[in-house]
Amino acid sequence: MGGIDLCDRYIAYYRCAMRTKKWPVRVFTHFVELAISNCWIMYTRYHKLNKLKGAKSLMEFRMMIATALCKYEGSITPRRGRPRLSESSDDGEEPQRKQRKVVSQPMKEVRTDGFNHLPRFMNDKNASKCRFPGCKSRTRVICTKCNMYLCVLKHNCFEKYHKSLSLHQ
Ligand SMILES: [Zn+2]
Ligand SMILES: [Zn+2]
Repeated sequence: MGGIDLCDRYIAYYRCAMRTKKWPVRVFTHFVELAISNCWIMYTRYHKLNKLKGAKSLMEFRMMIATALCKYEGSITPRRGRPRLSESSDDGEEPQRKQRKVVSQPMKEVRTDGFNHLPRFMNDKNASKCRFPGCKSRTRVICTKCNMYLCVLKHNCFEKYHKSLSLHQ
């Protein structure tokens, strides 16, 4: 019973803000919340047991799941319908300018999930710097999921990056 109380408490901390009286939706969201809380309890126990530092808080853990799921969905289904509010603009040059912006690195859970990381050869005029830490090679190959330039020749950072290896491994 103590375990159930604890789990209920964790669920109550960040309960989904969706307000609906439809019971199937409520039951569904409850089970999702239950699964997340149970996963987090196991995750923190694993950290304690192995005396590992840097365990994420429940909030950070939930954010991690959300980010990973958004990235996952975005990479396998082509975007349809109206553009999102932040992307719509009457100025035709705006989207291009946004694309050139430096994108942050994907989180480790996405990078090493072994799913759908496909290389694409970019027809750029100049090769770009490989974004693998420590690598000085230039490349025209990107990972379409991570949206990162990674070299495939000398160091094969493309493979190392997705297997979480270091440069000289
Ligand atoms: Zn990738
Ligand atoms: Zn490289």
